Amino acid sequence: MNFIETRGNDGQQASEVSFSSAILSPMSSFGGVYVPDSLPDLGITFLQTHLNSSYKTLAKALLNAFEIDIDSAVIDEALNTYDAFDDAKNPVPVVKVDNDTFVSELYHGPTRAFKDMALQPFGVVLSRLAQQRNEHYLIMAATSGDTGPAALETFKNRANVKVACLYPNGGTSDVQRLQMVTEDAPNLKVIGIHGDFDDAQSALKQLLSSEKFAAKLKQKNTRLSAANSVNFGRIIFQIIYHIHSYLELVRQHALKLGDKVYLDVPSGNFGNALGGYYAMKMGLPVEKILIASNSNNVLTEWIQAGRYDLRERAVIGTTSPAMDILKSSNVERILFDLFGAERTKELMLQLDRDNHYQLSPTELEKLQAIFNADFCSDNEGKEVIQSRFKRGYLMDPHTATCFKTQQSYAKKGIKTIIYSTAEWTKFSPTIANALTGEKDTHDLDALKSISHEANTPIPAMISELFDKNIAQESVIDKNNIETEVLAFL
Ligand SMILES: *Cc1c(COP(=O)(O)O)cnc(C)c1O
Repeated sequence: MNFIETRGNDGQQASEVSFSSAILSPMSSFGGVYVPDSLPDLGITFLQTHLNSSYKTLAKALLNAFEIDIDSAVIDEALNTYDAFDDAKNPVPVVKVDNDTFVSELYHGPTRAFKDMALQPFGVVLSRLAQQRNEHYLIMAATSGDTGPAALETFKNRANVKVACLYPNGGTSDVQRLQMVTEDAPNLKVIGIHGDFDDAQSALKQLLSSEKFAAKLKQKNTRLSAANSVNFGRIIFQIIYHIHSYLELVRQHALKLGDKVYLDVPSGNFGNALGGYYAMKMGLPVEKILIASNSNNVLTEWIQAGRYDLRERAVIGTTSPAMDILKSSNVERILFDLFGAERTKELMLQLDRDNHYQLSPTELEKLQAIFNADFCSDNEGKEVIQSRFKRGYLMDPHTATCFKTQQSYAKKGIKTIIYSTAEWTKFSPTIANALTGEKDTHDLDALKSISHEANTPIPAMISELFDKNIAQESVIDKNNIETEVLAFL
């Protein structure tokens, strides 16, 4: 299968590329991104065949259906990273929380958030490709908290890849910061920036577009790549768990094969939801994909009114910070799939230029045939955490946003799969506040208090963080990032 560009071709780049080049050099013509030129049609037979397959067997079959140019042995090695999840046999448990509602837990990997689902196998693929081509890559990332730890964890000690990860000093939780600054490997550099996430991100963007920086990297025989959520190498691993979750419901006798479900996704950059969309297009029986947001409800407005409007908006800090996003990067792939390259280019350029665009009524109708959306305030989310905890289920604030969307749009009788994107350990002060009323608790105290309330242990990889050595001490001004990164290389 080949990959094509969401904004069409500029006549300078190749108009079709292989999977491996799409993931090593993810930027395409006119600032677009790569998408598969077609999707395999799996049909109900694929589901039937894999009803009792293990997660890895299902994953291998799905990747094979994409016919990507990655050696079978590398795919196997990549999928073996799921063996390090809590339960190697079932890396994604699906838990029934009431008659109509099932939670697919995507956070049982090493960094306790769903970024591991894609970044764990992606790290293997990227490093192996770099080795095969005898190339060296620098991956630069700016993180507000979950991507950084997951990227560092997956590339740690892998050959031909180095990672420089920027985070806003003081802008992440204790656990998230410790997950990064305790990572000790010669190919990893973690840099705290004086400023907030936007400062870190814009400093990164500036650096990535600097010709001077590119020339210096070239001198060091190093290429730049990106592990951000528009990289199709991540998306492909995010299709698998949607199919797995559906099959789990069939195995649990909650569904008959062929019955439709709602996929209910807490969304930021729309990678998780895009994986569900592709699964649906490949034949998964989905009634609607429900998009849950927090108060940064730009996706809600997009799906409810066809208007993507950033003009009156600034990012609002919420208790679900991984969804504090206004420019949701994978929306572009939906635009392309529904409306084609020409229209996608037009809409995306309009967004860049005017900070807004409006879909036509027919376009909106097409969008709403697939998606519904709603948003959830911090207070509503807190009530969900409280009330569901009383009924026996402990969840994080991102997962909590999904229940409002379900209430707004799910019809009785059709089951909903809610995607849980983080373990309680990653956002413990918010959860402790919901459960006990305690305020402004530090992570360690909050973890202990939730562990006590819920009678559940703190996982070792989290509790151990507080005793580890700090290996990454850099906290610098954003103007010094380039010097710091070049010194690291
Ligand atoms: C990244 C993240 C999200 C958002 O996922 P997208 O694929 O960017 O929509 C939601 N919740 C958590 C905890 C995350 O880390």
